Amino acid sequence: MTASPKRRMTSQRRIILEELRKTKSHPTADELYVVARKRLPRISLGTVYRNLDQLAETGEILKLEMCGSQKRFDGSTHDHFHVRCRICGRVGDVDATLSLPDLDRFKADQFEINGLYMEFVGTCAGCESRE
Ligand SMILES: [Zn+2]
Ligand SMILES: [Zn+2]
Repeated sequence: MTASPKRRMTSQRRIILEELRKTKSHPTADELYVVARKRLPRISLGTVYRNLDQLAETGEILKLEMCGSQKRFDGSTHDHFHVRCRICGRVGDVDATLSLPDLDRFKADQFEINGLYMEFVGTCAGCESRE
């Protein structure tokens, strides 16, 4: 077995990563905490937050910044967009290749623009069938 020291993971972090990679729901830290606790009964919410932040820093997961909602996390790090249900807030993946606009074209007083978050909005299948 070869384990490079840099990639050494605590078992807590490994379990959090495993649980996140299992789901496509883009859970919040609170939601992951509920799942992680089934395997790690003594883990704290703070520990879940800390591990998620570390995993996001090393690029093993994505931390999603979305408009008007709690931060969510994503176990798949390939280039993709997200769609958020307007009704229940559920988040899904969108396979799309889009070229983002050239940020230099945008001006805001007192700000230097250096990023842009984009998300699609829609209605999820669950909410659609309830209507
Ligand atoms: Zn929905
Ligand atoms: Zn995603």
